[in-house]
Amino acid sequence: MPENKSSFFSDVDIPNDEVIASCIHCGSCLPSCPTYNLTFDEKSSPRGRIRLIKAVAQNELEITQTFVDEMNFCLDCQACETACPAGVKYGSLVEAARVQIESSELTPAFRRLIKKFFFRQVLPFYSRLKTFARILRLYQRSGLQRFIQWTNILQLISKKISRAESLSPKISTFFSDEIFPERISPSGKIKFRVLFPSGCLMNVMFAEINKDTIEVLLKSGCEILFPKEQTCCGSLQAHNGDLEFARELAKRNIELFLKLEYDFIISNSAGCGAFMKEYGHVLENDPKYSQPAKIFSSKVLDVMEFLYQHGDFSNLTEIRIDATYHEACHLVHTQKVTDQPKEVLKRLPGLNLIPLDEATWCCGSAGIYNIVNYDDSMKILERKMHHLRTTNAEIILTGNPGCIGQIKYGCESFGMNAEVLHPITLINQYYQEPGNLFPK
Ligand code: SF4
Ligand code: SF4
Repeated sequence: MPENKSSFFSDVDIPNDEVIASCIHCGSCLPSCPTYNLTFDEKSSPRGRIRLIKAVAQNELEITQTFVDEMNFCLDCQACETACPAGVKYGSLVEAARVQIESSELTPAFRRLIKKFFFRQVLPFYSRLKTFARILRLYQRSGLQRFIQWTNILQLISKKISRAESLSPKISTFFSDEIFPERISPSGKIKFRVLFPSGCLMNVMFAEINKDTIEVLLKSGCEILFPKEQTCCGSLQAHNGDLEFARELAKRNIELFLKLEYDFIISNSAGCGAFMKEYGHVLENDPKYSQPAKIFSSKVLDVMEFLYQHGDFSNLTEIRIDATYHEACHLVHTQKVTDQPKEVLKRLPGLNLIPLDEATWCCGSAGIYNIVNYDDSMKILERKMHHLRTTNAEIILTGNPGCIGQIKYGCESFGMNAEVLHPITLINQYYQEPGNLFPK
């Protein structure tokens, strides 16, 4: 019997019956599921969650606390999709199930607060986001953060706020949209015109990666369009049960970007790229936007996909370095981009790419998972850090900002001395003059 009566699925975004029915319950996905491997409990597995979703969809089970907890316990890493022989689109099921539990009182208040306030009121408004980032930067760099951490006062107020604070990446010294114009041309012949979305958090927390991306694209003959009016892509909202708002953001970007002419839309964030590639799918029933959304999605490439096809790797400086590569879930499992980044890295002279065991296993970052499911996230991170440590690599490379932040946190927490970088940052170093190289 359901332990806590609430409601059945309702409204537009419900898990698709055909997708539910495509699961043949073979269990091939279980060994690759990080949450199942934490509990060995069937309901924490992809197959178990599909059964739960099916039961609610068929009115056999109401939305209970167990149901809500299982949908939130899932990382949405989509490793199960890669493993599934029947091609079950599990990600679409859990994301629709999260829409259904979004307004439920059973969803923890802290989670609802992040979604309602930060995702809706801050991320999409870049002036608000930058004000927030400036305040946080002052806090991080003035010595106040060290003092607060020393007093342990946040721990006493709220463990969750304290963890969010300690997991928050450092705000960049500059914001990428403030140092580049809206059109950036290469010094030589223009081979491609590309559109580069700055991203919301990328713009303020990982602005150096945006700068590296632009500089590498210029080296490959790209003219770059960098419109200032753009908004957040909607990825965090969609993956956390607010598909309605994510669609609104997608429409705003489509309206803006389709006025421009370009060959590709380049993403340097696995989560953002994955969702922009899904615009065509999430807007397929919208009479006005379905066609433009398909065109938009067809142009999106991860920066490593672009470099694999079109990158110019002549005139690189040799850097002798041992590096390893962690495959971000939204790149390997959602976008199926796995060989291209490694092939590009192998073209860098002097780079020794050390294979990483379980490279495609989630690091536990998963959007806001590490903030709202801290303890489980740390168990998953510990497993990742174990494998990273055995590589003895000086540099850990990964193509998603969330993974960079999480693995940096892992290096500090588990005492591993390595630099954690986006591959584009390392690639840009290979274009520098000798004597101006990273690492020293
Ligand atoms: S998305 Fe990841 S955590 Fe969720 S069921 Fe699939 S493999 Fe498990
Ligand atoms: S999701 Fe795929 S792999 Fe997992 S039980 Fe269903 S059919 Fe099998």
